[in-house]
This record gives sequence, structure tokens and C-alpha cells, in this order.
Amino acid sequence: MDVRISGTHFPLEALGPGRRLGVWFQGCSLACAGCMSRHTWDARGGTHVSVSALLELWGEALERGAEGLTVSGGEPLQQPDALAGLLAGAAGLRDAAASGSATGAGAGGIAAADLLVYTGYELDELTPDQVSALRHADAVVTGRFRVAEPTGLVWRGSANQRIRPCTPLGVVRYAPHQERESTGARLQAVVDTGTAVGLRLYGVPLRGELAELERQSKSAGVSLSDPSWRP
Ligand code: SF4
Repeated sequence: MDVRISGTHFPLEALGPGRRLGVWFQGCSLACAGCMSRHTWDARGGTHVSVSALLELWGEALERGAEGLTVSGGEPLQQPDALAGLLAGAAGLRDAAASGSATGAGAGGIAAADLLVYTGYELDELTPDQVSALRHADAVVTGRFRVAEPTGLVWRGSANQRIRPCTPLGVVRYAPHQERESTGARLQAVVDTGTAVGLRLYGVPLRGELAELERQSKSAGVSLSDPSWRP
């Protein structure tokens, strides 16, 4: 099974607890005003990869001590079959890693790595296929990004967004954070030297943080061309 993605990154440290594998799906028709990831909107953009290739990355991440998988976008639930396959495979590899350890802990000493999905949908908007796609998720962050409702809540971009634990592991990992304000850095910057020098930002910025980044870059003599949050 194939999936269209915008990218992957390990270790991701700004969307969920611990060091995680991040997978960003490509394609989102929800078009929230103020979205920082407009480059993920075009369903024909990004890269076509197989779910099994992503699961290979997940297996490698587990061996390197990954504490979780974060699937974001774009809108993961606009490719529900691929999301279902990815989460089912990721849960299987995670469970095998946890049970294969002599101590009962998984790779890197982690008892179990959690599976977190970001969606712009509310739960009552989901089709049966989309609900089914989330069957193996330990927690889901729901809701559109609303630029007029800024928040300091950890791992969320606007105050309406909710963390919803779905499994016992999800409750352990996420219930303590549902009303928690972030205290550390909300953005993780990674320099991408692949085709051209680029700056990738992972996480959810505070209101005005991206404009401030543009201002500071400009005053340092660095111009950001085509930032993904500009129309
Ligand atoms: S914030 Fe998320 S749901 Fe909203 S347009 Fe951007 S990618 Fe889509």
C-alpha cells in the first residue's frame, strides 16, 4: 500500500513526549487560516512512498530508542487506508519490540512507544473508515487550527484542540498533559541540506512566533524565501 507524505524526521521532540519518529502526510483540504504547513495542502504534492518503507523507518527508530510515533500533516485522515495500515504495522512492531526484551521493556528501555495522530477533524465529523483508521492510535489530537484562539497548551496550536487518549497507554502518556501549558521550546528547527539549504520547523508556535522569526532572520541578513505559512 502506498501513501503520499510530506516528510519524516527522527528524532522529533516537539510533537508528543520524548524522542519520536514524525511522519507528515501530504494533502489537506481543511485550509485553516494561519496554517503553518501550507506546503502540505496539495494532495498531488509531496512524495509517494510505501507504508512498508515507513514501517522500516519505524523499526529503525525503535532500535534507536524511539518513545513514540507522531503522524501529522497535512491531514492523515484524508488517506485513511494508508493511515490504518501504518498504525496497525507500527503497533505490531512496537509490541514485538516490547515483548522481545528480556526485561519486558522495549528497545532503548522503553516499555512501549505510543502512537499519536494529529487531525484537523473533530471526532463527530469522522466517517466509519476514518474511525476505523484510528483503531491502533494511543492518542489523537483533534480540531482545526483556529488562529483567533491562541494557546499555551502543550503540543497544540489553538485552544480548541484536544488531546484524546484512546488506550491505557495513551492515558498514561497523555492524560497528565491535557491541561498542561508548555514550558520548554515549542519549535524544533532542523537545517535541511538536501537539495538546497532549507530550514524545517517542527512543532506548534506561539502566536506571533513565526512573524518574529522572520523579523529576526531579516535583521540578521537572512531572508526566508517561500515560508510555508505564507499564502
Ligand atoms: S492546520 Fe492542519 S488541518 Fe488545518 S489546514 Fe493546516 S494541515 Fe490542514
